[in-house]
Amino acid sequence: MKITYDREACQGHNRCYMLASELFDTDDEGYAIPLIEGKVPAEPGEKARLAADNCSEFAIAIAE
Ligand code: SF4
Repeated sequence: MKITYDREACQGHNRCYMLASELFDTDDEGYAIPLIEGKVPAEPGEKARLAADNCSEFAIAIAE
């Protein structure tokens, strides 16, 4: 599983951080900072999917 993040689409809702703090931090303005680039280990993989599903801006994408 690979995760991609689109900074231009991100609106800084912090939902990804609240749902998957292992995978996302936030900057001072609330925009996401991905903590893992590219391939995601299996265990937080489901949280990556949860974060992507709950990002209303479609800024997070998951590829198998
Ligand atoms: S949930 Fe989406 S829009 Fe909100 S901070 Fe995370 S990546 Fe950005």
